[in-house]
Amino acid sequence: MSSTKPETIVLHAGYRAEPTTGSVAVPLYQTTSYQFRDTQHAADLFALKELGNIYTRLMNPTNDVLEQRVAALDGGAAAVALASGQAASTFAVLNIAQAGDNIVSSTDLYGGTWNLFANTFKQMGIEVRFADPADPENFRRLADDKTRAFYAETLPNPKLQVFPIREVADIGDDLGIPLIVDNTAAPVICKPIDHGASIVMYSTTKFIAGHGTSVGGIVVDSGKFDWEKHAKRFPLLNEPDPSYHGAVWTEAVKPIGPVAYAIKLRCTLLRDVGAAASPFNSFQTIQGMETLPLRMERHCENALKVADFLASHPKVTKVIHPSKQDGEARRRADKYLKGGLGSLMGFELAGGKDAGEKFINSLELFYHVANIGDTRSLAIHPATTTHSQLSEEDRLSSGVTDGYVRLSIGIEHIDDILADLTQALDKA
Ligand code: PLP
Repeated sequence: MSSTKPETIVLHAGYRAEPTTGSVAVPLYQTTSYQFRDTQHAADLFALKELGNIYTRLMNPTNDVLEQRVAALDGGAAAVALASGQAASTFAVLNIAQAGDNIVSSTDLYGGTWNLFANTFKQMGIEVRFADPADPENFRRLADDKTRAFYAETLPNPKLQVFPIREVADIGDDLGIPLIVDNTAAPVICKPIDHGASIVMYSTTKFIAGHGTSVGGIVVDSGKFDWEKHAKRFPLLNEPDPSYHGAVWTEAVKPIGPVAYAIKLRCTLLRDVGAAASPFNSFQTIQGMETLPLRMERHCENALKVADFLASHPKVTKVIHPSKQDGEARRRADKYLKGGLGSLMGFELAGGKDAGEKFINSLELFYHVANIGDTRSLAIHPATTTHSQLSEEDRLSSGVTDGYVRLSIGIEHIDDILADLTQALDKA
C-alpha cells in the first residue's frame, strides 16, 4: 500500500519483509560487492540494460531503502544517498555545472556551503553569484545563459528567514533554470518540490537521523525539471557522455522514468568522486527517520515555547525565530512551513560577547556543539566559533552579533529546557 502521509512513509516506503528471511527491520547490507549471476547479467548491469547491485560505492540495498523513503517523503522521483550533507550540496551542483558555468545562490547559507561555493567551486572554475533573497528578482538579475541552477536553504540560520521558494522557482521556470533547495532544517514541515523546487538535498546528519550518531547526505530528484527542453543549458545531461560509452542521460533513462539527473549523479559523480553513503550510517539513519514526523512536532512545539520565554526575559534583547517575525518574512514562514516553525532559533543577549560566553559555559542540559537537529537541545555562540573566521563586517551582515546565541531545541520535557535556560541566563 502506498501512502502520501509522512508518518506512514517513514515506516513503510521502499521496504517490505525481506523475502528470504522475512526480516521486518530493514537489514544492514554491510557488503562491498554483489555476486553476478553470470557474465551476461554482469554485462547487462554495467550497460544499464538491467538495474541492479554492482558495488557499494554506486548502490547498496540499505542505502536504497533510505533513498526511497526520503524521495517518497518529499514527493520526488528518485534520490541518491551520500557520505555527508556537504557531499550532497557538492554533487547537486557538479551534476549540472562545469568549469565556465555559474550558479546563483542565496546569500543566506550554512557556513560550510558558503566556503564550498565561495572558494572550492571558484577553484574548480564554477562561479557562484550571491543573491539577497529579500527580493526574489535578484535571482533573475544575476542569471545569464551560463547559469545552471538557483540554490537556497529553506530555513537558513542565523537569520531564520524562510526562503521564497515558489517566487524563485517561478523565475527559474521562465529562464529554464532549476532550483536546488537544502531542506536540512525543515524536513516534513516543508516540501520544497510542492513549491516548485526541482532538486532537494539534506544533511541527514541532522533532523532526519535525529540521534546524532551518523553523518550522511542525500539528493532528491523531483523528476519534474524538463532537461531536454533546455538542452543547450544542460549539455551534461543532453550530450553524449564520453565516460559512459557516449550515453545521453536524458535518452538513456527514458525506459526507467524522469530520473536523468539522479541516475547521472550516481553513475558518474558517485563512481568517480566516490562520496558514498556508508550502509551502516544509512541503517542508523533509517532507525532515526522512523520517528521523524513525531519528533518534528515536538521540536517545533518546544521551540515555540522557548521563543516566547526568551522574548519576555529581561536579559534578552531580540529573539530570532519565525514566530517573532513580521511582514514579508512572516508571510513566507506561514506560506512554506506547515505544522510548525522549526526547532532553530537565535537570541541576542544585552551583555554582548561576554554574556554569550557566560551563558554557554553555564548550560547543564543543552549540549555546546556545532550541530543542529539532534533530539537533544544544542547551543553555540557563533561569534566565537562558527563565525569567528569572518571579518567583523561579514559576521554582522550575516546576522551574528556579539551577543547572538544559536539554539536547536530538542525534544526533552519543556520544563527542563526552560529550567536550564533560566539558570544559564541568570549567570550571563
Ligand atoms: N546544510 C546545512 C543547512 C547544514 O546545517 C549542514 C551542516 O551543518 C550541512 C548542509 C552539511 O552537512 P554535513 O555536516 O552532513 O556535511
